[in-house]
Amino acid sequence: MKNRRVLENTLPLLRAKAERLFWEKTHSHEKESSLHMVQKELQELCIHQIELEVQNEELRESKEELHSTKKRYLDLYEFAPVGYCTLNEEGDIIQVNLTMAKLLAIPKSKLLGQSIKTCIYREDQDIWYLYCQKLIKTHTIQACELRMTKGDGTPFWVHLDISIQRDTHNEIIVHLTLGDISSHKQAQMELEATVHALAYYDALTKLPNRRLVQDRLSQAIGAVERNGICGALFFIDVDHFKLLNDTRGHDVGDLLLIEISKRLQLNMRFGDTVGRQGGDEFMILLSGLSEKSTEAAAMALQFGQNIYKTFEKPFDLNGFEYSCKISIGISLLQKGSSVEELFKHADIALYQAKDAGRNTLCFFDPKMQEAINLRTILDSDLHSAIALQEFCLFYQPQLDKKGVCIGVEALIRWKHPKRGLVTPFDFIPHAEDSGLILPIGLWVLKMACAKLKQWEQYPDRKTLHMAINVSTRQFRQPNYVLEVESVLKESGINPALLEFELTENLVLEDIVGSIEKMSELKKLGVSFSMDDFGTGYSSLSYLTQLPLSQLKIDKSFIDNIPGSKNNETIVRTIIAMGDGMEIKVIAEGVEIDAQKEFLLSNGCHFFQGYLFSTPISEDELETFLDRNTGT
Ligand code: C2E
Ligand code: MG
Ligand code: MG
Repeated sequence: MKNRRVLENTLPLLRAKAERLFWEKTHSHEKESSLHMVQKELQELCIHQIELEVQNEELRESKEELHSTKKRYLDLYEFAPVGYCTLNEEGDIIQVNLTMAKLLAIPKSKLLGQSIKTCIYREDQDIWYLYCQKLIKTHTIQACELRMTKGDGTPFWVHLDISIQRDTHNEIIVHLTLGDISSHKQAQMELEATVHALAYYDALTKLPNRRLVQDRLSQAIGAVERNGICGALFFIDVDHFKLLNDTRGHDVGDLLLIEISKRLQLNMRFGDTVGRQGGDEFMILLSGLSEKSTEAAAMALQFGQNIYKTFEKPFDLNGFEYSCKISIGISLLQKGSSVEELFKHADIALYQAKDAGRNTLCFFDPKMQEAINLRTILDSDLHSAIALQEFCLFYQPQLDKKGVCIGVEALIRWKHPKRGLVTPFDFIPHAEDSGLILPIGLWVLKMACAKLKQWEQYPDRKTLHMAINVSTRQFRQPNYVLEVESVLKESGINPALLEFELTENLVLEDIVGSIEKMSELKKLGVSFSMDDFGTGYSSLSYLTQLPLSQLKIDKSFIDNIPGSKNNETIVRTIIAMGDGMEIKVIAEGVEIDAQKEFLLSNGCHFFQGYLFSTPISEDELETFLDRNTGT
């Protein structure tokens, strides 16, 4: 520019000088050489002018290039495939590109001045702080993956590169480069899910595979160790599956396996697992059944029977109707079980089931299996026992301190056509479970009343009382009082001779309800004896509220007297309590003279036990009474 200006100023002067010289030339030849010099100078100046113009052109072009480079740079920054932003020391955004604004779905103008923390997903703020700390400590570029939040609150995954620098004013600034990796993360998660599915699920039925069942089994074992509640592991094998596969083809076989998996799942409760072991073998893991192993086994049996029920309907295999039979092996999951052992036992049980002719269920434990078999038979037989008049009452005499029989306890027996006399221990609990105790209990009540009625005719028998045992379910039924009232009316007996034995546990289960019902029954004229007294944890406060006329000291305390100081104390205490509350006290399970002597010397009023008589049949009782009644 300066050169040009110089040139522009110099050129007119030179031109004037040249004109003047030309005019002088026409008059003087001496000046001819100086004119030549001026012309040369003029020529050089013209060349210089051209050079300058070229330079000028170049300068203009560079300027234009600089301008377009700057524009290109800005475009690159704003529309880069990654987001950029610069933060000040406080973490506020001082520069941000359009890509980042677009990723965050927040206008650039709004982002400027905003703290970067507001853009980091709540749950991932810790990651952000961690990497900031690393950055401050090491001053080296940090890379991390975390979720940021869009303007509408949606989180999305980003890869972040964070670096720290000082700007021209020596202030700390932080540069962020971020790339959206949501789709990559999504693909990664899908891949992980696929890998997980392949590792833990069966491809055909989509059921958990052996490995996952094993995992869940070890968790279930942990739970059993903590809470003591048993579970069960089922191995289920399809009978004659190979035959179906060979005759109908593998597609049909596969279809059956899929359909079986669906039916098995029909029976599941929340928390149970159905899995496929491979081939035609399935597994079921039941947890949280019962604390008692026999109870848990019974529940597992019931569950197995339900499975068989769901298999009763034939399978529709693409129009081909197929009746599928299965064998089941069960091992019980209880304290001390291990995964390997449970798998082995369920497998053995399954082979036992197959050996037993297929389409059957077997428990691993032979004793358990026997108990289950017995229970199954008993349960089905119990249903018909009343109608078939297979129950009878045995009677165990109760004596006073002089040895006079003052009454009897009616104890039920089941004259099983095949098993002989079955004791109540073997069937009352099942009758309780199934509800059959209600008709059985009613039958006992009626029989006891009938016997009392019969004794009314005989002076030596008419004061005898009759104790009957009442089970929880029976006592709790809403119409129990009405039922007793109607039986009493129908039989026409003196209700004062009827004594209901309630166990301490029955009463403790619902003290208020028990007191209420006992009081109503007492109004009918019957009395109450507390059976198995001392085995529960009766508190004196409620004992005084119960309308009891007798405490029956449990046999377990009588067993060890005299001798056991503890039992002696308990027995003495119960007798003293009875005296204090003006309630009779009877001892059950008296087997030897020493026990009787101890009881007598400590003031016990009444006795029952093998020392005097075992429970005996009606006929035997009559003979016994002929010898032992007061009259
Ligand atoms: P419980 O009411 O405590 O009956 C006493 C049990 O002890 C009877 O067993 C009796 O035979 C037995 N026993 C009596 N004295 C002695 C003795 O000196 N030594 C030994 N070792 N045992 C003795 P049983 O008849 O097998 O009855 C067992 C339980 O079954 C009864 O215990 C009662 O809870 C229940 N039960 C019996 N009959 C009925 C009934 O009709 N209805 C209901 N709901 N339960 C009944
Ligand atoms: Mg009893
Ligand atoms: Mg008892």
